[in-house]
Amino acid sequence: MVVTRASGGGGGDGDEYRSSDYVHSTFGSRYMQGPIPKWRMPVQTIPKEAAYQIINDELMLDGTPRLNLASFVTTWMEPECDKLIMASINKNYVDMDEYPVTTEIQNRCVNMIAHLFNAPVGDDEVAVGVGTVGSSEAIMLAGLAFKRKWQQKRKADGKPFDKPNIVTGANVQVCWEKFARYFEVELKEVKLKEGYYVMDPEKAVEMVDENTICVAAILGSTLTGEFEDVKKVNELLTKKNKETGWDTPIHVDAASGGFIAPFLYPDLEWDFRLPLVKSINVSGHKYGLVYAGVGWVVWRSKDDLPDELIFHINYLGSDQPTFTLNFSKGSSQIIAQYYQFIRLGFEGYKSIMINCMENAKVLKEGIKKTGHFDIVSKDIGVPLVAFSLKDSSRYTVFNIADSFRRFGWIVPAYTMPADAQHIAVLRVVIREDFSCSLAERLVSDIDKVLKEMDSLPSHIMSSERAHVALIENDDHVNKTVKQIQDDVTRHWKRFVKESKTGVC
Ligand SMILES: *Cc1c(COP(=O)(O)O)cnc(C)c1O
Repeated sequence: MVVTRASGGGGGDGDEYRSSDYVHSTFGSRYMQGPIPKWRMPVQTIPKEAAYQIINDELMLDGTPRLNLASFVTTWMEPECDKLIMASINKNYVDMDEYPVTTEIQNRCVNMIAHLFNAPVGDDEVAVGVGTVGSSEAIMLAGLAFKRKWQQKRKADGKPFDKPNIVTGANVQVCWEKFARYFEVELKEVKLKEGYYVMDPEKAVEMVDENTICVAAILGSTLTGEFEDVKKVNELLTKKNKETGWDTPIHVDAASGGFIAPFLYPDLEWDFRLPLVKSINVSGHKYGLVYAGVGWVVWRSKDDLPDELIFHINYLGSDQPTFTLNFSKGSSQIIAQYYQFIRLGFEGYKSIMINCMENAKVLKEGIKKTGHFDIVSKDIGVPLVAFSLKDSSRYTVFNIADSFRRFGWIVPAYTMPADAQHIAVLRVVIREDFSCSLAERLVSDIDKVLKEMDSLPSHIMSSERAHVALIENDDHVNKTVKQIQDDVTRHWKRFVKESKTGVC
């Protein structure tokens, strides 16, 4: 039997021998009595059962992932796949020479995705692409490839190459802003307007100049799920390139739509069928149906990925090309992606996406029926419902989002980017595991929340005001509802400007 001298810490009672700590109930042990170590590594060791229990219990206070309607990221997979994930959790993906099968599996995934996106890959050719941690890393790599290609061309032409820019819509996901800032590329954003929440192709192409390294179009806007008109961008840009002699390419950010469009809208031309589309990213962990930690970027051809971005390492064995930002990472997600591809096949993905769309429809109809909301999302796009309040004079979408929490639902509310900041919406993302019965339950909870809100004195006068007062340290007692609403709008505008949206 292990006998230990417990001294100090953990709320224990000092110098007594407590051999029973190791054999009796975890909850009965002294490890569960005192405050848990937080900011400094504790001096002493504790039993594994106690460590497990402490952390497990604290995590109970997190939200329930499957009720998190804010995120596109997968929250459910089949137990067989969970088994594969756990079996490979100790495999470092970068050790390609040691784990050649895992490397081969990633290459199979890249090729499947390239074909799904209609890359011009011959029968005896392999596609060019790589697995990443998510679309953000994929976008960094694609952006770097464009920047390098553009610089090479400018240098060859004897022209300045220090002011690269990218043209996008103001609705881009925050990772594009990261790319712009980290890699010193100016982001030229096409402003939105009320009722039109994606990049306007005409305006985008107008903004293109000789320093534009690419136009980034989004297949499935994060905010409304709407597909941008990539075909139109391709058409207008082809014309502009012809007139100017430039060579401006297109990148498609298909983080969420890349695994929707091929199955639901096979005739929609958004991918490598359009000649100017040189690279596409997609999140394996969104509608690729894998847990968080996998994304993909695929290039049209070898020529579109400059050699200088590829590193060759040999200290782990043979020569290995690598072109990711990180070095080490887990292998599980890539293996899980391959599981989904071969398990579901085209047929399986298609039926899952059809179900998601059907459930989105049920939810949309239910929300419409309340009479309180305008639907902002479109019928064609990523399966989500974005909706705004018709009348925000008594309470706002932010109050509604707060109230949903009481029912366990996590539904984000946010304002639109410039120039539609005055529109605030709620958004529910429909994932594979969000069933029709959950959709119906959500609708009935929305009804309950609205009834409660309608019966209470104006929320603008209470929580929002307290919120604003806290932030502005101001006295609002004598302000009119209109003034308070202006304050709220100002607060949210500032919040959005500082942090972009909290949606992912
Ligand atoms: C989610 C998302 C991203 C970021 O993807 P991660 O896989 O979370 O890094 C980029 N663009 C769009 C349009 C997205 O929806």
